[in-house]
Amino acid sequence: MRVSGDRVVQTGTLQELGPEAAGDTLRDIPDAVIMPGLINAHCHLELGMARGMLPRCEAFPMWVSRLRKSLDGAGPLQYREAARLGALECLKHGTTTVVDVGNTGESLAELAGIPIRSYPHLELIGLDPEVAAQRVSAALERLAGLPPATQRYHPGVTCHAPYSCSPELLRKVAETAGLRAGPYTLHVAESAEETAMFREGRGALFEFCRRIHPGLRMQQRESPVSFLNRNGLIPKGSLFAHCNHVDAEDIRILAETETSVVHCPRSRAFFNHGGFPLELLRRAGVNLCLGTDSLASNEGLSLFDEMAEFHREHPAVPSREILAMATVNAAKALGLAGALGCLRPGAQADFIAIEMRHHPEYDLYEEIVSEAHDVLLVAVGGEEVVS
Ligand SMILES: [Zn+2]
Repeated sequence: MRVSGDRVVQTGTLQELGPEAAGDTLRDIPDAVIMPGLINAHCHLELGMARGMLPRCEAFPMWVSRLRKSLDGAGPLQYREAARLGALECLKHGTTTVVDVGNTGESLAELAGIPIRSYPHLELIGLDPEVAAQRVSAALERLAGLPPATQRYHPGVTCHAPYSCSPELLRKVAETAGLRAGPYTLHVAESAEETAMFREGRGALFEFCRRIHPGLRMQQRESPVSFLNRNGLIPKGSLFAHCNHVDAEDIRILAETETSVVHCPRSRAFFNHGGFPLELLRRAGVNLCLGTDSLASNEGLSLFDEMAEFHREHPAVPSREILAMATVNAAKALGLAGALGCLRPGAQADFIAIEMRHHPEYDLYEEIVSEAHDVLLVAVGGEEVVS
């Protein structure tokens, strides 16, 4: 591969690349696969300090309470440190782009100074429609105080989920110019409790939300996806995390709105969420990506581990398709098909080299997605950041 500045210029055999030109630096990496850097389409880096502290398979509201307790006393410095360590862990494991979400906003400031390609989002929550306008204007002010966006750094604002935000807040964030960086991202249809809240107006999550906002009423009996769609709250090309509990009609809406779905296999297993109708989603042509979610519901931030978990759960899915979820599909979700997640002339030179002695009798993609790898080199925009 020949790289110039931040772009890939040419790929091929050494012979095809031709002789070295003056000023070229030749790097030979034996017994390695050079491949696109991976894209983590959903994570919460600032929650890293809760790593290993929360028990598995607990009801979601209980997890939230424990998470809050484990973060008790943490201030801006701790959140920034967690975001920094998380980003470095991502790079070390070959992830060159992250779509990050955080309540405190500290990761937005921290990621500006780290050589990973990032889409950090300040995440808004608020069921009281009265607070929507004030939350959005405070978020705009916060954004204005951040370092300016660059080729690598794209700060923005998002909402948490349809169950934790009023339709007014969801609408304002979806529509306010200047808030968005990359696609509109949201947690949707993650748990059975969320479905019970929307479809039946009851359950542990509904009670939890009603304790926070006693005025909460579920007017319609419908799925979270249908609720969003009916209210015009799915901008074309959105990026929804989870979608574990979606039915055929939800999937039709996701396909129609060209919404990408970020599947988080290890976080889903941590919560024992179940669901995730993979075959229906694939058949409808929904663009599927991979994410790690946070270290409060996952043991690590490696997308190789995430791909391996997915491969174990779904051995019939072609390995090449699994790799696409962490590369070209995620790039498409970011509106950067052809520019990220692939190594072709003109693409961003976000690439990694993983240690691998290829055995021609095995499928190369299978070898890549089925286990963890030592990452020998990581480059973002042509700059070696791990080597
Ligand atoms: Zn999440």
